[in-house]
Amino acid sequence: MKQIQELYPQLATPRKVVITTHQKPDADAMGSSLALYHFLSQFGHEITVISPTNWAGWLNWMPGVDTVVDYELNKEKTAGLLAEADWLFCLDFNIFHRTKNLAPLLAAATCTKILIDHHQEPDSVNFQYGISDTAKSSTCEMIFDFISNSGNEDKIDIRIADCLYAGVMADTGSFRFPSAHAGVHRMVAVLKEKGLQHTKVHENIYDNFLENRLRFIGHILMNRMDVNYEYNTALISISKKDLLRYHIRTGDTEGLVNYPLSIQGIKMAALVIDRDEERKWSFRSKGDFDVNTFARKHFEGGGHYNAAGGRSSESLDDTVSNFKKVIKEYKTELQS
Ligand code: 5GP
Ligand code: MN
Repeated sequence: MKQIQELYPQLATPRKVVITTHQKPDADAMGSSLALYHFLSQFGHEITVISPTNWAGWLNWMPGVDTVVDYELNKEKTAGLLAEADWLFCLDFNIFHRTKNLAPLLAAATCTKILIDHHQEPDSVNFQYGISDTAKSSTCEMIFDFISNSGNEDKIDIRIADCLYAGVMADTGSFRFPSAHAGVHRMVAVLKEKGLQHTKVHENIYDNFLENRLRFIGHILMNRMDVNYEYNTALISISKKDLLRYHIRTGDTEGLVNYPLSIQGIKMAALVIDRDEERKWSFRSKGDFDVNTFARKHFEGGGHYNAAGGRSSESLDDTVSNFKKVIKEYKTELQS
């Protein structure tokens, strides 16, 4: 994988570009994709953002989101766009299987593939150019660097500022995680000077749910959370029935895994949701418990040190039992 800087002199030559990101894109995935879209558009590139799946309704305020192609609804169009593309940007994921059913098409594409991502263990051999940096708070921070370091900070407009802020805000837990280093705050200062409406972005993302979602959270915390003080761990498991009863839609469960970490002494929080095709896990930790390694080892997943995800094809009950069994191996780490 060649360094990302080697692309800078090539930016001024218009090309056909596809930008894609991980399945069920979150604010960082969608924000970085649309910010790059608005940036590259200014050079005359012909660009399409493709999402592997649908996304949460609370991302629909993002400028440009109406142009995003949902692969699952536009399979032929996606295949055509990938066949024609000169460049394929892969943002906020580092291994094709994170794009679910789109993965075989990405792997087979013959265009130049470019990685911009902040997760661990990148599949670098599959990219011609790129940057993978786990010290970065978010892919949005990396797109900001891409724009600034290529000498194009003057091209950051209010659309780009709002998209970038959304991603960095979400991935740093509103600037509270250790990843919110000084450079992140300097970036936000630049975005403010470009017209960023930070209050609006917070409202658009965090104050934009329906009543049923808040009642669902009440139900889940009351009836579906199991706190184990022996292991300083809390586990939330959500059944299909829970999802149906409260009319839960894509994005409604985002952030739920963080709630148990507010309990004094809890070091790891785990959340599992019974989705149609798999049981989807989310893991969060405080301090020195590495959930990336945990998710990789036991739940076919990965992510970051304090935030990771995974999956299982077992039933909900079986994967929950498995979780309760495997945490026994970590008693010492979880108790310290
Ligand atoms: P979340 O729990 O919010 O879905 O994901 C937390 C972090 O783990 C994100 O950075 C996400 O990209 C990563 N992640 C989530 N699920 C998976 C997975 O199945 N595999 C890998 N490698 N990473 C995941
Ligand atoms: Mn991210």
